[in-house]
Amino acid sequence: MSKKKKALSIQTNELIKDFELQGEEIVHVLTGVNMKIKPGEFIAVMGPSGSGKSTLLNILATLETITEGEVRLSGVNLHDTSYKDQLDIRRNKTALVFQNFALIPYLTAKENVKLPMKLRGVPEMEAEEKAISFLEQVGLYARLDHLPEELSGGEQQRVAIARALAHDPDIIYADEPTGNLDTNIGKEIIQLFKTLVKEKKISVIMVTHDPDCAVETDRIYILQEGKVLEERVTSIKKRSSKVEGKKK
Ligand code: ADP
Ligand code: MG
Repeated sequence: MSKKKKALSIQTNELIKDFELQGEEIVHVLTGVNMKIKPGEFIAVMGPSGSGKSTLLNILATLETITEGEVRLSGVNLHDTSYKDQLDIRRNKTALVFQNFALIPYLTAKENVKLPMKLRGVPEMEAEEKAISFLEQVGLYARLDHLPEELSGGEQQRVAIARALAHDPDIIYADEPTGNLDTNIGKEIIQLFKTLVKEKKISVIMVTHDPDCAVETDRIYILQEGKVLEERVTSIKKRSSKVEGKKK
């Protein structure tokens, strides 16, 4: 199960995103975002509502197109690759975790986790074994056959994280993953992400409103009006080892 991963770096260069509304009105959502994320970093993205956080995450996850600028995944221009390559990135390199968990309500925890593997053609037995293992890794071995509605919010988010692991991702994008959870449960989810980053060398890019969650990450990008207003390094240990981050 410990397939060697080629961890991905993420870089955005003057990333611009406009939405054209009906009529001719244009909404300038991202106005020149520059970010550099190393493989295996845990990153928080913060900023006021409407500052473009979700749009940025969706662009990084190739769910949304860009207007100008570029996104590079380990040097490869993400929006200049073929549809097939983008699909490969979506299925095999990245995974998403949402505020509302987005589990399929009529599938059990185990079936929800098996689904991405089935879509990728992983044989039934292997998918079954892996789903159980991923659920065990998120602390839900005792809940394999529960439906989402039979689980607490925190447990549902753990299932969603196990489902993300089923993509065997290099990067997990999480949009306010603790937004619907009580503070303590949210902290447990953050600790789970920290463990995954450390043990599996997965990068996690997480949008959050909660400063207590953000300080648990390695670095915080603060967006305002579609730009990076500020970048804060939170992890002294990492910085002294190799990040050339500027202290603000
Ligand atoms: P955040 O996640 O930081 O709250 P969003 O990225 O969701 O911000 O939205 C940023 C801005 O972009 C908002 O003003 C929103 O109305 C606008 N926006 C987002 N998606 C669309 C869309 N599909 N069409 C037009 N405007 C959009
Ligand atoms: Mg949002």
